[in-house]
Amino acid sequence: MLEIERDPKRMRAWVLAAQAAGRRVGFVPTMGSLHAGHASLVDCAAHECDDVAVSIFVNPTQFGPHEDFERYPRSLDADCRLMEAHGVGKVFAPEASVIYPPGDATRIVVCGPARRFEGEVRPGHFEGVATVVCRLFLSVPADVAYFGAKDWQQTLVVKRMVCDLGLPIDLVVCPTLREPDGLAMSSRNAYLSPEERARALALFESLTRAEQLWLAGDAASGIEQAMRDVLTARGITVDYAAVVDPLTLEPLSLKDPHGPKEKAVALVAGRVGATRLIDNRELPPR
Ligand code: AMP
Repeated sequence: MLEIERDPKRMRAWVLAAQAAGRRVGFVPTMGSLHAGHASLVDCAAHECDDVAVSIFVNPTQFGPHEDFERYPRSLDADCRLMEAHGVGKVFAPEASVIYPPGDATRIVVCGPARRFEGEVRPGHFEGVATVVCRLFLSVPADVAYFGAKDWQQTLVVKRMVCDLGLPIDLVVCPTLREPDGLAMSSRNAYLSPEERARALALFESLTRAEQLWLAGDAASGIEQAMRDVLTARGITVDYAAVVDPLTLEPLSLKDPHGPKEKAVALVAGRVGATRLIDNRELPPR
């Protein structure tokens, strides 16, 4: 039976009691509007842990002033039904005033992997992400937390923070779940009209093109241009299309002027009408 907990202290006590009883606790932080991609993280957690907690919190500090915080889809009842069907015992759904108490003035700033891409296009975004993830980890002191590779850069930022602050939690990154045609599942897909939904597939197609060219030996700059061409041909406004080092997100050419022999990651972000979508693909060593 799933229980909703709104109080951080009681949430923390639940986790500590489970651990005191020798149970391994997994944690999946989310912003709700849950779909099969979120459920896949839960399934992964349930496979490796005795108890699974999911947080549902639309975090105001990771949205820019002109972004979609107000209209971000919220569906707590449906979310809880889905989580219960996947065996979740506890949903942590705090009020914003609990996570950010009156007078709140503390932030966590991650440099390094947070600098480029989402960090450039969405100033303050990763500061909001790092701050809320750290606060959620205090309320849900689980053994292990699960994040989706769908938000590749976010996984690097959270890993950096956990390492630098010495937070006692393991991180697991799970693969991106996709619609049958390849579009990455996202809560924001709900914003798309049927016509935009069809055009949004260009993100996936740009990554497929990137992988083909990567395996054919092309340089990052040429691959990036080809990705842009795929996106703009479908009327998508490109925020970035990049092939970079998968751990540092730095250009590959700086690392090895004779051509990359190691893995890379292709990152893409663009706007389909008013909806901003991101996706990525790991590129194998060649
Ligand atoms: P969000 O609710 O968008 O903040 O996402 C919560 C977690 O679910 C994050 O770790 C995301 O990376 C992950 N996630 C979102 N979409 C997917 C997907 N399609 N496949 C796997 N994980 C996902």
